[in-house]
Amino acid sequence: MLALVTGASRGIGEKCAERLAKDGYTVLVHYHQSSDAAKQLADRIGGIPVQADLGDFHQIDRMTEEIQRSFGTVDLLVNNAGIALNGLFQDIPDAEAIRLFAVDVGGVMHTAKRLLPAMLRAHSGCIVNIASVWGECGASCEVHYSAAKAAVIGFTKALAQEVGPSGIRVNCVSPGVIDTEMNRMHGPDTMQMLAAETPLGTIGRPEDIAEAVAFLASDRAKFITGQILPVNGGFYI
Ligand code: NAP
Repeated sequence: MLALVTGASRGIGEKCAERLAKDGYTVLVHYHQSSDAAKQLADRIGGIPVQADLGDFHQIDRMTEEIQRSFGTVDLLVNNAGIALNGLFQDIPDAEAIRLFAVDVGGVMHTAKRLLPAMLRAHSGCIVNIASVWGECGASCEVHYSAAKAAVIGFTKALAQEVGPSGIRVNCVSPGVIDTEMNRMHGPDTMQMLAAETPLGTIGRPEDIAEAVAFLASDRAKFITGQILPVNGGFYI
């Protein structure tokens, strides 16, 4: 079984890759810039590093063609790579807003588009997208990110209906606040406040998201498609 995990060089993607390798997947460890980290992870889990800027359709085309030529059909796509933007809506430069949508929405949809034909021919396959609690409830000063993650949720629901009859499941994990580099832009005070606002009293770990991804990818979830699984400690119910 072959899995592509995007943004696997660190954070949530790294833990997803490790968890899926334990479940017997050969993991294509995708990265953008962190080549050393991706190669070290690939060595550790017997995976294969693959590189692309997912904000660029041409690079996605190149990467997915290389994957399919070398390894054939991908059984599982975990669309995890993403970037965030912090600031007042009207202060975000246009170029940064366009870039965020290119990576967080364009990257997710175009990678799926390129890998789907082989899944459709095989009449099997699984896609797990990573959204965000902000895509469900919205966040002040993260308006572009919230809108992009809401798009990932809509994409999941729509594509699940379209490809379900072809034996392909599409689901989404929606993380709450997770301890990764993405949140280093927040100071310790903000992180403490977010933990205090979480009914389970703590922020999450990347491993918590990896468990949910592994579940949705497995046969234990074989009758689950088009669903959004919140993993947020009760932060948003
Ligand atoms: P992270 O630690 O910042 O890691 C981001 C990953 O995405 C890295 O592997 C990075 O690759 C890759 N990436 C960034 N820009 C890319 C691009 N242009 N093309 C291809 N890959 C790119 O983030 P994380 O916290 O693990 O987040 C993973 C996912 O979970 C994201 O979709 C994020 O929105 C979502 N999420 C996170 C949280 C949270 O609290 N952390 C909450 C909700 C949702 P390189 O390092 O190789 O450049």
